[in-house]
Amino acid sequence: MMIKIKWYLGIAVCLIVLAISVLSADSRSSHQAQPGFQVSTLGALNVGVYQGVATLAKLKQHGDFGLGTLEGLDGEMIMLNSKAYQVRVNGSAYPVADKAKTPFSIVTFFHTARSLQLKGQLTYQDLQQQLDKQLPTPNLPYAVRLQGTFPALKVRSVPKQTLPYPPLKDVVSRQQRVFALQNVRGTLVGFRLPQYFRGINVAGYHFHFITDDRKAGGHLLDGIFFKPVVDVQPLQDWKIQFPDNIAFEQALLE
Ligand SMILES: [Zn+2]
Repeated sequence: MMIKIKWYLGIAVCLIVLAISVLSADSRSSHQAQPGFQVSTLGALNVGVYQGVATLAKLKQHGDFGLGTLEGLDGEMIMLNSKAYQVRVNGSAYPVADKAKTPFSIVTFFHTARSLQLKGQLTYQDLQQQLDKQLPTPNLPYAVRLQGTFPALKVRSVPKQTLPYPPLKDVVSRQQRVFALQNVRGTLVGFRLPQYFRGINVAGYHFHFITDDRKAGGHLLDGIFFKPVVDVQPLQDWKIQFPDNIAFEQALLE
């Protein structure tokens, strides 16, 4: 009788150990094998391919966290916890309907693989350098999130363009509006992509900001950070949805 109970106990322990190892393997794979998904290419956006390619509903099938812009280069888009916001050229944020279309975006399902605690007060340049030192390799893309109160952030937005669409650099140099936010609470949603992404996407760091009250934000240009905690997730896979339109087909892309 005693032997039988021990035998049952042994099997029960084995099953529990097996269940725990399967569960932890699952969570590990969801952390590490998450794909990044992008719509169109930075090269296409640079030459003015601002036609909508994918709906926000489609984007949400590929992620709950990301950034981009809307059809016609209509402001800066931020996706956080599956909710999308548009920061218009006036600096104010508005919810985006699922039927809205994006010409260029990046999303992923965000799971914090590791949190990096940085020290002291940092400029945006310091932040990038310190993060680069702490990331396991520069050769993988990462989703990057910073939450908290930021001493100062400089963000921008751009106005919606009309056809024929001008190149991105002309819109930025002539029409972008810059907003200085101070002691602002919110989330920076971003990515760090390897240098070999050039032409496909922004190589290096790219962040969009949204305040905790979801009323303001924009594309990050500069900032001051104090002891920031940075959540990062490596992305082991990358998917691109290329535009299915004449503007993309006829664009001279590098
Ligand atoms: Zn941006």
